[in-house]
Amino acid sequence: MPGSPAEIKLVNNAMSNATRRTIMNLLTEANRSKEDIGKAIGQSMLDYHLQLLRQAGLIAIKDEMLELTDFGKNMLESKAERPAGSRNDLLDVRPIEIAEVRQLIPCIADAAKYRVLAQVQPPLGATLKQMEPLFPRARYLENIGALTIQTGNIMITAYSTGKVIMTMITSDDEAKKILENFKKTINEAIEKGIKPVPREKLKVDHAEIYKYLPKTNCHNCGEQSCYSFAIRLVGKETTLDKCTPLLETKYAINLEHLRVLMEYL
Ligand code: SF4
Repeated sequence: MPGSPAEIKLVNNAMSNATRRTIMNLLTEANRSKEDIGKAIGQSMLDYHLQLLRQAGLIAIKDEMLELTDFGKNMLESKAERPAGSRNDLLDVRPIEIAEVRQLIPCIADAAKYRVLAQVQPPLGATLKQMEPLFPRARYLENIGALTIQTGNIMITAYSTGKVIMTMITSDDEAKKILENFKKTINEAIEKGIKPVPREKLKVDHAEIYKYLPKTNCHNCGEQSCYSFAIRLVGKETTLDKCTPLLETKYAINLEHLRVLMEYL
């Protein structure tokens, strides 16, 4: 049982992170393999999170399975230390509404499709990060404070400010349906607690990157074409800022979307 200031600090640090609290929650239901935990919350920094929980004495590995220690169980039973992701953590969060759909403009990636900008109210702020386990193909990007969700060809980027961008939308009805599903999933979590779903890997390749480049083959980036720039980006042989046309206002959403995609490379 931790008692020294250093040990208490380890526990507080371990429990201060939503992903680690979600892992603790998963282990209250059953002992799980590392692979199972990875499927539920994603592989990103999984070893790091598990290491911090083990160092704090909250979880242990037995027969290659992860389990809560007695101290970990007591911690979760303690009302003061109830993990985020449980219903109580969301008691102060109000259900969201789709306040407005601000723009419906052609997608540069595919002129037959649209980019949609919407706003949800109230903004989810830091709580947005806790919503990552609700979607099979989702990832929270710390550096831009956004949750990205992939569903088929469509990429949804939801920001902590309430702004939501969707790309490759075919119609008003499709945009409305996706926004309603997004709202329903979030609001059910607010009402009933966060129940992680099995995770799927989100893949990004050069063809996906190319869709959002200006496709003018202007050579400003030093490449023969936008396509070769996309290939070199995926190979990490160049950087997005080399494509200066992306700074033009008309490509603002493309740039925003590409910055998200770059996080997956
Ligand atoms: S600078 Fe941008 S638009 Fe011009 S060729 Fe390179 S990738 Fe294409």
